[in-house]
Amino acid sequence: MYASLQAKRPSAIDCFAEITTNWQGKTIALFLDYDGTLSPKVNNPDEAYMSSEMRDVVQEVASLCATSVVGGRARDKVKSFIMLENLHYAGSHGADIKLSDEAEAYQPTSEYEPVINGARERLEEVIRDIKGASVENKQFCISVHYRVFEKKKQELVKKLVKKTIKGFPELRVTDGDKVLEVGPNAEFNKGYAVKYLLEQLARKNNWDSSQVVAIFIGDDRTDEDAFKVLRGRDGGLGILVSKERKWTKASYSLEDPAQVQEFLQKLVTWKKAEAEV
Ligand SMILES: [Mg+2]
Repeated sequence: MYASLQAKRPSAIDCFAEITTNWQGKTIALFLDYDGTLSPKVNNPDEAYMSSEMRDVVQEVASLCATSVVGGRARDKVKSFIMLENLHYAGSHGADIKLSDEAEAYQPTSEYEPVINGARERLEEVIRDIKGASVENKQFCISVHYRVFEKKKQELVKKLVKKTIKGFPELRVTDGDKVLEVGPNAEFNKGYAVKYLLEQLARKNNWDSSQVVAIFIGDDRTDEDAFKVLRGRDGGLGILVSKERKWTKASYSLEDPAQVQEFLQKLVTWKKAEAEV
């Protein structure tokens, strides 16, 4: 099992015809991570912009398939990068979810806010003197970025963060790619977010869930929770964005955001052709 999870996944572009074989007449629910999926990875997380070409294709795909962005950052932050209204947004790894036509957000871990604030203040003090490390406030969770160059410094940041969070038993630390995610030790992650969004979308749109194909595209460790949910579902498709051979529960892969854009474009073309049949 472990070996098969390590194998390189086939390309979602090369296998596009095979993937869509049984999709005729089905509803497609699309879930997209943001950083490293729609936008390239950059050293300064405040500059993780997506290209206007990517924005155009996301907007078009969202007009054809129910599309949600499930990001690790604060919901408002993700939306400020994407700047599209016709999407559903889940921020903070699913701790803050808002459907496009709803006024209220669903915030399953809001009771943890005071302890998150306390931990954030401590983390800011602890890493203050480490150049290249920064604390991002995401309201429902905290990201500690450490895109510093020296391996030794990276290890130091990890050690300091983990040690600090030991003092907050309600919180947990998850490793990402040059980022540590600190969040409540509660039942929320991108997998729960996908489940919640699928339920809500099915209820609102009277979907027959057996006729829904759910696709998740993401690049990081925290996306595995979503891949896991889709693996256990008929009509679930996980796509990992990576050039490398990685442990993953996704079924297919794309190399980088440029290929994500190409895949979304193929989906738009396919969906339009299908509508004409
Ligand atoms: Mg990502």
